[in-house]
Amino acid sequence: MEEKTLSKLNERIDDLVEDIAEKPARTKKEKPNLKESIYSFQPEQLQDWLKANGEKAFRAAQIFEWLYIKRVKTFEEMSNLPKGLRDKLEVNFALTTLKTIIQQESKDGTIKFLFELQDGYAIETVLMRHEYGNSVCVTTQVGCRIGCTFCASTLGGLKRHLLAGEIVEQVVKVQQSLDELGERVSHIVIMGIGEPFDNYDAMMNFLKVVNHNKGLNIGARHITVSTSGIVPKIYQFADEQLQINFAVSLHAPNQEARQKLMPIARAYKLDELMEAVRYYTKKTGRRVSFEYGLMSGENDSVEVAEELSALIKGIKCHVNLIPVNYVPERDYIRTSRSKIFAFEKTLKKNGINVTIRREQGSDIDAACGQLRAKEREEETR
Ligand code: SAH
Repeated sequence: MEEKTLSKLNERIDDLVEDIAEKPARTKKEKPNLKESIYSFQPEQLQDWLKANGEKAFRAAQIFEWLYIKRVKTFEEMSNLPKGLRDKLEVNFALTTLKTIIQQESKDGTIKFLFELQDGYAIETVLMRHEYGNSVCVTTQVGCRIGCTFCASTLGGLKRHLLAGEIVEQVVKVQQSLDELGERVSHIVIMGIGEPFDNYDAMMNFLKVVNHNKGLNIGARHITVSTSGIVPKIYQFADEQLQINFAVSLHAPNQEARQKLMPIARAYKLDELMEAVRYYTKKTGRRVSFEYGLMSGENDSVEVAEELSALIKGIKCHVNLIPVNYVPERDYIRTSRSKIFAFEKTLKKNGINVTIRREQGSDIDAACGQLRAKEREEETR
């Protein structure tokens, strides 16, 4: 090669190297290289995949049974599938995408799981033991972009959405741990890390899989989804006409106070939110739950309770008062017991259904994103 051409080529290579050095390293958030989870599929979707891959459609029911009734941990164990199909599944899907890194049990029986995902991020799942059954609180996103000022889940922003299968697998993992005790997951609350309506399609797919009568068969009335108030998605959700319980994180009875606590209120105003909630209750005939975290001096006075009563009057609803959990990175202080009771009394006097949320697992960082924040400082900064 000619000297001149060679030096030109070297120059070009130098430029390229510089280019690469200047580019920030690709973050996992931009392009997660994830293997699709087998738990993302409803039986009909599995059938489509099988047919497209030269396999018999009836295998879908067999696979579903292995996943949700027998709850195997490898494709290899699916012994009534031909070896060729098991290999194909192995190549195309992940069966285990969650690795348990911490499993902490509280004195009251609450168990908190910290799971590591395929790409190294960590999420939390909580099992709560109630008299009426075992309830699992699932995470829908790694982090959250909603920015509520009292919440640990949003520290560090949103890293990525979870796949439907990663949400389903949280329930399967908890069920597998209950299998040893001969117990069953009977309830699900979609109230872990993340905003479920910001990952709407995956959340809907998750609901269809866990609700399926050939699988975990968890009844819609035993499932609750909670949103911070993404208004267009509330309309979409209402139109799905599901029997799922629906909760809205309200936390304040007027626009000014609400947007101070929840920046999302700037994007979706309180009156728009209330209109969407009314639409939901009319369309579905179901009641809505309002979650209301009590923070000392912020939103917990008797006057505020009166204002809240006026705001929700006439809506088929229930208010769930949450003594706010202290998050070290935030400065809100929990309302005193006497003030919580005074707030409750005011709502009751005004004819509003209200309960105070029973606390569980406070000795194991079981509140929204706290365990992850503690264990994965770098992810939540
Ligand atoms: N993003 C959804 C799902 C999270 S649900 C939502 O906002 O509804 C979890 C509930 O716990 C929400 O009502 C949330 O506002 C509330 N929460 C968040 N941080 C809290 C804290 N430190 N103490 C008490 N409740 C908290």
